[in-house]
Amino acid sequence: FEKLPATDSSKDEVGQMGSTFNSMMELLEENYTKQEEFVSNASHELKTPLTVIGSYAKLLERQGMEDPKLAEEGLLAIRTETDRMKALIEQLLHIARRSETQLVWEPVDLIELARQTAAAMSTSYNRDFQLVSSATSVLVTTDLAKIKQIMYILLDNARKYSSDRIELIVKNGNIPMLQIRDYGIGIPKESIPYVFDRFYRVDKARSRETGGFGLGLSLAKQLADAMGVSLEIESEEDVGTTISIVFSADFNVQEVQSKQEGWS
Ligand code: ADP
Repeated sequence: FEKLPATDSSKDEVGQMGSTFNSMMELLEENYTKQEEFVSNASHELKTPLTVIGSYAKLLERQGMEDPKLAEEGLLAIRTETDRMKALIEQLLHIARRSETQLVWEPVDLIELARQTAAAMSTSYNRDFQLVSSATSVLVTTDLAKIKQIMYILLDNARKYSSDRIELIVKNGNIPMLQIRDYGIGIPKESIPYVFDRFYRVDKARSRETGGFGLGLSLAKQLADAMGVSLEIESEEDVGTTISIVFSADFNVQEVQSKQEGWS
């Protein structure tokens, strides 16, 4: 965009309007670039599995029927890539539904929630998910379904990027907190500020192996922002990662509700 010329003195009203206009346009341009980047990343991520599916379909058409090994390999690849696309589209839909996010407040016992989740995850993945807490009950007012969604994203990452036990730590006190801790590969210091960005992955090759798109944490952050809780990350390479869901001490349901109404 063409910037309005700066006037001699930005103190006069026209000068001030000009600089407000310039900063508004800069903001719009930045958002537009981010949107473009998002669409281009999403398209790229969808195109990759489609290319694999297309190539195998062609190969099977040509020689697959006579070669059972190739047929098996091709069908498996097609199924895997289709699942990958489905997962990506689901995550994209979650992101797109942001403005429709309706919050449902209810009292939730974090101990009970962490205990049930740890048990369910241990069974599903045959891994050791442990509840760690000295409290018997920690009550917060929150949106249960969304907290579960955030927990699932964090636990899934902990599972993908570690092989040891995973802890669900519940802390009481002024500021109730639910932490997910793993003893896995950790995140390099310079990458930590970017992990909540859409499509950001520390190591693209590694993440593709683990099936990630770099959307999980950005979705978790979006949900956390909507509920007025914060996500804090601590991580060290080859030591592990702890992500805390922090419920604010002066938590005010009405305040978050009115903020949310402002969106829609
Ligand atoms: P992905 O689907 O790739 O896991 P996320 O948005 O959930 O995407 O995470 C972004 C990146 O942050 C991941 O690709 C990974 O590199 C890094 N990351 C997230 N959680 C962990 C963790 N618990 N341990 C190590 N690295 C992690």
